[in-house]
Amino acid sequence: MITINENFKALSENYLFSEIARKVASYKAQNPKAEVISLGIGDVTEALSESVIQALHTAVDEMADRATFRGYAPECGYDFLKNAILENDYLARGISLSSDEIFINDGAKSSLGHFGDILSANNIVAVSDPVYPVYVDTNVMEGRKITYLACPPEKEFAAQIPDGKVDMIYLCSPNNPTGSVLNRGQLTAWVEYARKHKAVILFDSAYEAYISDPTIPRSIYEINGAKEVAVEFRSFSKTAGFTGVRCGYTIVPKKLQAYDKNGSGVSLNALWRRHQSTKFNGTAYIIQRAAEAVYSIQGKRQTLATIAYYMNNAKTILDGLKRAGFKAHGGVNAPYIWLETPTGMTSWEFFDKLLNECQIVGTPGVGFGPSGEGYFRLTAFAKAENVEKAMERMMALFYS
Ligand code: PLP
Repeated sequence: MITINENFKALSENYLFSEIARKVASYKAQNPKAEVISLGIGDVTEALSESVIQALHTAVDEMADRATFRGYAPECGYDFLKNAILENDYLARGISLSSDEIFINDGAKSSLGHFGDILSANNIVAVSDPVYPVYVDTNVMEGRKITYLACPPEKEFAAQIPDGKVDMIYLCSPNNPTGSVLNRGQLTAWVEYARKHKAVILFDSAYEAYISDPTIPRSIYEINGAKEVAVEFRSFSKTAGFTGVRCGYTIVPKKLQAYDKNGSGVSLNALWRRHQSTKFNGTAYIIQRAAEAVYSIQGKRQTLATIAYYMNNAKTILDGLKRAGFKAHGGVNAPYIWLETPTGMTSWEFFDKLLNECQIVGTPGVGFGPSGEGYFRLTAFAKAENVEKAMERMMALFYS
């Protein structure tokens, strides 16, 4: 008899985005002329940069010629892309790594989801509340116990160090959904905790390109000692509009160890390499060339312009919300704005009000965890003209 992985039964029903889609579809069916503006899903709206498009065309042409055709890519990535990452994202910022500490993938989600394969199911996992749900669900699938870290509003939603011992710590900075960032002191405290407790930090910096404050670390490896306790997950999705193209990378330093049942240290770099070469057959050549183009001089200029466009939207949202009388967080070093719903209104009630009376779609905070109740996420990933229109509508409804 074939049996299932029972852990899947412990997953909570993930109805957040399907419920949003259902409500929006029903509203549109009843109001076919309504112009609904989505500031809900965290997906990019702007086209790929010219540099990326050019690189894609060139790589496609290479595949059309027997002399330049490529088959299977190296499982952990081509050197041309790893070297571009190394030089631009790390060496240029004073962080020394070697190219065999970089693992190219098809976006951060799959590596975030699979990294647990190389760690024991007995490890205790710590996540923030509210949280990007992938950290929770992938660990529930593997049967791990999850502890929620307090993220108090008065501490700008920074995940607080627990009193007890945890083994796997997910930190997301800039944060989805709260738009907050962890500063150097906070990251240093986490690195010290991980070193003391022989824990590992899984640092998700998918939104690092949105950091404008030069004092905020973009990489956990800016913190002394982090290479011994942290893995870093990065993505071209939000940096360069690759959500539909799919490319990211994971840094697993060679100094990073976990322990076997006898307490002997084992290299996570070696285990992750073994994992990827067994379960992954490499990111497409064409896509890796496209990612490489993000680091060309033109590519960098174009990428920064698109990020500035989204961050200008974030400013419009923040200013609009403040004028309309809301308390809002984030939106300065992150493309997410985390606003407090009006007194006495749950995040789903606010969702309904915004949809029905302003024709705006956002994301109810409670969908990111119990502490998200009373909050609401808006994203800066939208057309600027729609963002302006959305803010005018909110002003008209809420300004008093
Ligand atoms: N990490 C965070 C915090 C995210 O918000 C997302 C996507 O929304 C991802 C990782 C996954 O990104 P991707 O798989 O597109 O690289």
